[in-house]
Amino acid sequence: MNKLYVVGMGPGAYEEMTIRAVKTLEKCQVIVGYTLYVELIREHFPDKEFFTTPMRQEVERCRLALETAQGGRTSAMICSGDAGVYGMSGVLLELGREYPQVEIEVVPGVTAAVSGAACLGAPLMHDFAVISLSDLMTPWELIERRLRSAAEADFVICLYNPSSRKRADYLKRASDVLLQIRKSVNLCGIVKNIGRENAGSRICTLEELRETQTDMFTTVFIGNSSTKEMNGRLVTPRGYVW
Ligand code: SAH
Repeated sequence: MNKLYVVGMGPGAYEEMTIRAVKTLEKCQVIVGYTLYVELIREHFPDKEFFTTPMRQEVERCRLALETAQGGRTSAMICSGDAGVYGMSGVLLELGREYPQVEIEVVPGVTAAVSGAACLGAPLMHDFAVISLSDLMTPWELIERRLRSAAEADFVICLYNPSSRKRADYLKRASDVLLQIRKSVNLCGIVKNIGRENAGSRICTLEELRETQTDMFTTVFIGNSSTKEMNGRLVTPRGYVW
């Protein structure tokens, strides 16, 4: 059976890959991925053959990986964070039905919600909802409905894809939906470039979040009604009684 691994490489730094992810890539001959992610890890795997495809060419990238595996070379498709969280493992498994000789194994990675939470402190100690603001595949009305439901249920909310050049005002629009339900002083966190150059995080209120311009390398956290700032860290109390 020819093997194709779909590997979550964590937020960016080599140190944040799991040992299983590193060992998996070490036993592969070919590593396929989006150019930016390949560049983040290339130096650590000097004897591998790398195939890169630009952003948006997800299906082509998956077919390339499936075809190299089918051709007999042990291959890996890498994704940032976890491959199963807004990543490629779903589409790879769907397309994989056309390549019955290829066995696909999913190797988990540290997703941005988790690595970003660690930068801020401990915002995800209680129930949380993860919502992507990208409306490429999800209609904006559905995104708003999910935002509203999570806000009403007092979930901590973690936003992926908070904005991009084309969607410059999406975080503002999402904040407006949340502000209909949550208080303007609701604490939030913004984390940029986790595990990469120019990493940074900051804590603000929901009102301030509304005025913040983010980019596609940012993950946003909206605390629940008990989330607090403690010594500069964002903490959602677990509910232990002191
Ligand atoms: N599979 C990835 C998510 C891909 S969607 C994962 O599990 O993390 C892309 C979104 O993820 C970005 O817009 C951003 O919101 C978040 N993200 C991914 N890597 C990040 C990083 N290094 N720093 C900050 N946010 C990141």
